[in-house]
Amino acid sequence: MNVRRRHISGIAVTAAAAVGLGTLSACSSDSSAAGNTDKFDVVASFYPMQYLAEQIGGDHVNVTTLTQPGQEPHDLELSAKQTAQMGEADAVLYLKTLQPAVDEAVGQADVKTKIDAATLTKLKDHGSVEHDHGHDHGGEEHAAEEHSEEAHSEEEEHALDPHVWLDPVKYAEIAEGVATAFEKADPDNAADYRKNADALTKKLADLDTAYKDGLANTDTKVFFTNHAAFGYLAERYGLTQEAINGLDPESEPSPARIKELQDEAKADGVTTVFYETLVSDKTAKTLAKDAGLKTDVLDPLEGITDKSKGDDYIAVMESNLKALEAALGAK
Ligand code: ZN
Repeated sequence: MNVRRRHISGIAVTAAAAVGLGTLSACSSDSSAAGNTDKFDVVASFYPMQYLAEQIGGDHVNVTTLTQPGQEPHDLELSAKQTAQMGEADAVLYLKTLQPAVDEAVGQADVKTKIDAATLTKLKDHGSVEHDHGHDHGGEEHAAEEHSEEAHSEEEEHALDPHVWLDPVKYAEIAEGVATAFEKADPDNAADYRKNADALTKKLADLDTAYKDGLANTDTKVFFTNHAAFGYLAERYGLTQEAINGLDPESEPSPARIKELQDEAKADGVTTVFYETLVSDKTAKTLAKDAGLKTDVLDPLEGITDKSKGDDYIAVMESNLKALEAALGAK
């Protein structure tokens, strides 16, 4: 369930309770925005973490998401209320290095179970893209960080690509780890968490197969994207991602970079410049126009909104596959 729907149902329950429809009050706990219900309360940092928590947790969890639908997650700032909610939760599920503000809040929060998805699979450095991801947040906050054991790897951390959820295989590895953490933190419901996780990893395995089959034989292996979110996906399926903007979707490409991309489009038979739903498509459209290319949406799944091409992770990934098949000339 997405946050918007949860919010609406919360209002509905409140209104119903106000006119005395007490039979609905049992729903109020799972509609609560606070991280302190009789369920296993999980605070998720952004959509891909929310989806894992909801799929694996099923009826036993109350999931609150820090990044609202439509909000670009990289530069998230947390409110005092959100930070307080985190302190009341049973568990927090996040992906270290993607959102510096979340990393800092988790570091300071008194939560029993902290699940860092970045530790549940192997992150890589996809380098060779123009980016300064996290640097504008990095310096001062990291200098002030008290976790000295992490300080030495600060530079390496910044070089690691956090967009790991876009590889269904790595996302399934994270799902396994989340299930194990839920089982440990809430042993009464361990059997259900395991069962739900198995169902999810089966869906992700099917998605992986669809990608493998769909992208096995294509005219070109190169695709252009707005920001470098698809490095893991490209690597998994033997493709080459050329990112206009690097890892940070808000940055602007240099004129030299634009020229380079235009030349490469010609050389590699690139047909399409992909953009995404949560950030401006201006650069992608300008590049496409200048180079005579098409544009289409490739969704990095950093949030689900009404504009998303599908209402959950699996559906959007399936629509991404269709878009890639068309752009790459799949046979
Ligand atoms: Zn991103």
